[in-house]
Amino acid sequence: METTETQPRILIVDDEATNIHVLTSFLRPFYRIVTAKSGAQALQRMEAHALPDLILLDVNMPEMSGYEVCQQLKGNVDTRAIPVIFITSYTREEDESRGFEVGAVDYIGKPYHPSIVLARVKTHIELKMTRDMLERLAILDGLTTIPNRRRFDQFLDYEWGRSLRYSHSFALLLMDIDHFKLFNDHYGHAHGDDCLKQVAQAIAKAMPRSVDLAARYGGEEFACILPETTNAGGRIAAERILEAIRALQIPHVKSTVSEHVTMSIGVASIIPRTEQRSLDLITMADGALYQAKNNGRNQAVCYDLQYECAGGSS
Ligand code: GH3
Ligand code: MG
Ligand code: MG
Repeated sequence: METTETQPRILIVDDEATNIHVLTSFLRPFYRIVTAKSGAQALQRMEAHALPDLILLDVNMPEMSGYEVCQQLKGNVDTRAIPVIFITSYTREEDESRGFEVGAVDYIGKPYHPSIVLARVKTHIELKMTRDMLERLAILDGLTTIPNRRRFDQFLDYEWGRSLRYSHSFALLLMDIDHFKLFNDHYGHAHGDDCLKQVAQAIAKAMPRSVDLAARYGGEEFACILPETTNAGGRIAAERILEAIRALQIPHVKSTVSEHVTMSIGVASIIPRTEQRSLDLITMADGALYQAKNNGRNQAVCYDLQYECAGGSS
């Protein structure tokens, strides 16, 4: 069977070429195999390539033992979720329990039966895939399938820390659909849901930079975080989003602003200082959003400390 990009990836680490060869021969039909001849090479592979879904690790290797490799993997946030199975001729009880102590999910003594190795590998790969899927789902909004509030909060924390460290500016957009209650009342909740899905997709498409995050903030509110972006950049992104929403041309006969669904956006940016909190940036963007609503909706208002840049455009 040919290996494909979608097959789970296994890293085999062993200083003996024959051991790698034997394992590879019966695993390759089902998995993509990557190999390393030492602990150092394995750790280096982790940094240079896509992370494996499982690691088969020899214990007895010169320079760095399998236990040390496993400990290092478990001590690193990027690699600690990768399941490690030891395959070794060290089969004393204390060897095995040491393997579990350093974080392995399984321990296979030699000589082994290939069918048993395959079965155990399959079990742990399935568990890993299920866990990955649950982690992905936990940060996505069920209705719109874009990132949810939880992911937004995580990303805001991360970006705040990064911008504080490097003295970079980053921008936040808070967006709120105009007269959405009237939309729901007139067209019904199911159409309201459909509208939210379309709006979410339009926002996501209008944010093509891979480093930007567009999320559902709650209800009919959305939020974007734009790393390394000033007020001016935030404003350009906001105008692009407003245009994308108008282009959807979703009828809204009850709106006092337009015949179609529109949005209001508050833009704020900041170079964080240590005494500030990310909540300060949210308050700023929220103030600008309030201003956009007050100015007549269907527009973006940009906030800076003195409201200097406040002033809508429709
Ligand atoms: P404004 O222009 O001032 O923002 O007015 P609005 O009517 O949009 O604001 P308001 O906060 O009064 O109403 C928000 C509405 O969004 C009310 C609520 O039922 C609706 N909504 C929130 N979440 C959902 C959802 O998941 N699905 C649907 N269909 N409606 C939702
Ligand atoms: Mg609202
Ligand atoms: Mg609203």
